[in-house]
Amino acid sequence: MLNIVLFGPPGAGKGTQSERLIARYNLVHLSTGDIFRANIKGETELGLLAKSYMDQGNLVPDEVTINMLKSEVLKQENAKGFIFDGFPRTNAQAQALDTFLASINTEITRMIGLEVAENELRERLKKRAEVSGRPDDANPDVIQNRINVYKNETAPVKDYYQKQEKYIAVDGIGSIDDISDRLFAAIDHI
Ligand code: ADP
Repeated sequence: MLNIVLFGPPGAGKGTQSERLIARYNLVHLSTGDIFRANIKGETELGLLAKSYMDQGNLVPDEVTINMLKSEVLKQENAKGFIFDGFPRTNAQAQALDTFLASINTEITRMIGLEVAENELRERLKKRAEVSGRPDDANPDVIQNRINVYKNETAPVKDYYQKQEKYIAVDGIGSIDDISDRLFAAIDHI
């Protein structure tokens, strides 16, 4: 299996690039943010719980997120591999993911980090707010909190995979096509 964690701060372009990667490598895309938003739309119990955290730009608790992710993976019996987008976002999630994947005889192949400077991220999120309709894009305080949460809780996940020699950095600045080409080159060289 080819299991890629696509990593990067809010606004790095993970969602856009995931679409390109699943098309080229025939993988299943699991975006925890998208799954939470679908649950909010469907007014499920999980959605109601997630919304209270997401609207503030905070992380949904690990246990809830991990259990949801596991059940989504298990639904995909014939998958050739996965793009994990927005997960893992804490070291506890990364450890749980390793244990879980080992239990089904697979593992993370690589984490690919889309690297984008903070001022560029702020600009992108401001623009996205005009079209996304996402409550967490609309408020500058919430955007700032998401960036802070990323620095404090999520950035350490990079070290986690670096220690396993699985981290690859990709420059996330440039045209969408250029960035896709960099990602394809990185994956084709694994
Ligand atoms: P972005 O990375 O652009 O902020 P996402 O769609 O990945 O957008 O995430 C939106 C929100 O969903 C996060 O701010 C968080 O509240 C919640 N979320 C997504 N993935 C996770 C996760 N792995 N753990 C906890 N919360 C998450």
